[in-house]
Formats: sequence, C-alpha cells, structure tokens
Amino acid sequence: MIGRGRSLRPILAPAPLGMLGGGQLGRYFVMAAHELGYRGWVLDPDPSSPAGRIADRHVRAAYDDPAAVEEIAAGCDAVTTEFENVPAATLEALVARTVVHPSPAAVAIAQDRIAEKRFLLDHDLPVGPVTVVERDDDLSAVDDDHFPGILKQARFGYDGKGQVTVEDREAALAAFVDGDRAPCVLERRLPLDRELSVVLARSRWGDIECFATAENRHRDGILDITITPARIDADTDAEVRSIASRVAEALDYVGVMAVELFVSEGRILVNEIAPRPHNSGHVTLDATVTSQFEQQVRALCGLPLGSPRAHSAAVMINLLGDLWPTGGAPPWPEVIAAGDVVLHLYGKAEARPGRKMGHLTVLGTDADATLEVALAARRAAGVTAEG
Ligand code: ADP
Ligand code: MG
Repeated sequence: MIGRGRSLRPILAPAPLGMLGGGQLGRYFVMAAHELGYRGWVLDPDPSSPAGRIADRHVRAAYDDPAAVEEIAAGCDAVTTEFENVPAATLEALVARTVVHPSPAAVAIAQDRIAEKRFLLDHDLPVGPVTVVERDDDLSAVDDDHFPGILKQARFGYDGKGQVTVEDREAALAAFVDGDRAPCVLERRLPLDRELSVVLARSRWGDIECFATAENRHRDGILDITITPARIDADTDAEVRSIASRVAEALDYVGVMAVELFVSEGRILVNEIAPRPHNSGHVTLDATVTSQFEQQVRALCGLPLGSPRAHSAAVMINLLGDLWPTGGAPPWPEVIAAGDVVLHLYGKAEARPGRKMGHLTVLGTDADATLEVALAARRAAGVTAEG
C-alpha cells in the first residue's frame, strides 16, 4: 500500500528502511538493506535483539508506543515487518505517513487464524476440515470428521504454541475452557504425507517470483529441517506454486510471504500464511541468486524483484537452544569441518529450550545426498534424535 503523498518511484539507497521486530528475520533484513546501501532502523523493545544490535538506529520501545511509531514514521522512507503480531493500529499509523508493505489488511488476515481460514475458504483455496470455535456451543455443532483434531488459538500462536491435540469433542471443550475460551479454530489432525512451503515475493506491479518449493520437517511443532528442492513431482510443484501465487494475489500482497501447505493422502491443503520471510526460506541466504531478505528489500523499495534461481540443492537444520550446554556452546569446529556446511548464529546471548539460536545450511547437488550430509552435521551439533 502506498502512503498518502508518496510517488511510485523506487526508494533508493541510502534511504532508511524500518523493520518492525528485532529477531533473526529482522536481522537478515537489515543485513540485506546494508548490502544494498540502505540504512536499517529497527523497532523492538529488547535492548539486545538480534536485529537491534546491527541496526543504524534501534528504537527500543513497545510496538504500540506512539512516540516510537512516530519516530519510525518520520525517519524511514519505507517500513516492513518481520512478525505478524504487530498491532494493527501501529501499521495504520505508519501507512498514513510512509510507505508500508505488506498492507495492514494482509497482516490482519495472517495474524488471526479465524480471518485466515475464512479468507482461504472465501477464495476457494483448499483447506482441511476446520471450524471456528468462539463459544462452547460451536463445539456441539462440529462434524465428527474433525476428530482427532487440533484446537488452535486464533491469535499469537507460533512454533506450535497455543495448540492442543484433542481426541474427541469432550477433550476439545475442556481445552477450550482451559484456554479461557479464547477464540480458536478446530482442525482435523491430518495424516501428513509431506509438509511444504512456498516462499515468494510479489512486487508493487504484481509480478511474482517463487523460490524453490521447500519440504519441511517439524519436531514438537517447531521447524527442524528444510529440504530444497522438495522431493515432489512436477505437477505437485506446479500446483503448490499456483496456490501460493493465488494467495498472494488475493491479498494484493506486496513483499515477501510464505504459504505453508500439507500434502495429506495425496491432497494439497493450505495450512497457514506468514506475511514475512520464513524460517524455511533461510536456505536462500546461501543457495539462491537473491535471498528472501534481499527480495524483501527490493519489493519494499519498488525495485525489480531478483532472480530466485537456486544454484544448489540445500538443506537447513534449525539450531535450537536445547543444543547449548549450560555455560557452553555446541562443538562448532567439528560441525563446520565438513565441506559445504554454512553456520549461521543470530547473536542471541541466552540459549533457552525451543529458542532459535541459529541454523546450518548444507549445500549439494541433489536433495537426498545433501540431506545425508546435513543429518551428519546435525549429529555433530549434538542432536541425537533421528530423521
Ligand atoms: P505455527 O503457527 O505454530 O507454525 P501451525 O498451524 O503451522 O502453527 O502448526 C505447526 C505444526 O503442527 C505444523 O507445521 C504441522 O507439523 C502440525 N500441524 C498443524 N496443524 C495440523 C493439522 N491440522 N494436521 C496435522 N498436523 C498439523
Ligand atoms: Mg506454521
């Protein structure tokens, strides 16, 4: 969305670009902005946030702090976000003053599972059995085909948080009451053949570039391994790209986004939309001509999109805080001794279980062989679980 009084001319370096959120996604955005000669400003309350540490200006304040929002609006030629839970009022205030992508409307849909599922259904995009749960009665009316199910809180969920597996109607009601009756969606727990994601960029002019479709494996609701290119046939690949592109078009999206999909009993279903670069897109930092973060800068600034062409197969291993021994670190020299292994650490001082501390990218010529090397690197980093 173009703010009032703004032209459609590209925003050129060294203009300051604003990032709402100071996590690793914001950090890579600032790095990409720097590579293209821009300044990077970050809004995040955490004084040691990964992006804030490398920003030209770190506004340390809450996302709804009016003075902070005013400072970003006045100081930045364009603003984007790295997480979906930015308050709507903040985005609206910024839109009135500067260039903002993605639009508040697109973010509002992606940040609320109820709005997201309604949007997908309204646009005839394929989803599994799902029902909105706002009152106890909604659960009495639910079809039996929703069980066994997953009750997901509509807002503020990530990495599997705010989700409960429920075997039957009674368990769903108990979980809903236990969650203080916060609005939810109830989904059928689907048998998953594969999980996929498409990270794409859409420009102001509506052109779309998709990165190679990624195949994702999760552990405890958190992304564990991404394999690119996904080991799927050409028809499936064409279909998931087409679905992801339809989502972007229907949102009139500008910027980088990800669509997470399931392949369940041969059917392709949309799981959720991320209005930002995505953890599964980290492979693009090392394996493609243009990374998802450079693409985010380009789309934000009205530059032509870059080539998403992959020059390697790539496998990404997430490095969670669980791997950090108290007072120490995983044995990095052994991990990176193997060829074609790239280590990324986000500079987070404190390791906590489930916290994303960094990732490994392993490059190769085909997905299967690269996965084997990546699993060895993962074992060297201290992961004992298989697969
Ligand atoms: P988050 O916002 O935490 O990423 P998701 O809805 O993507 O939430 O759920 C996290 C993971 O949980 C998914 O990647 C998938 O592995 C599993 N999952 C979520 N919904 C379902 C479902 N309906 N059926 C089977 N597995 C699911
Ligand atoms: Mg998800």
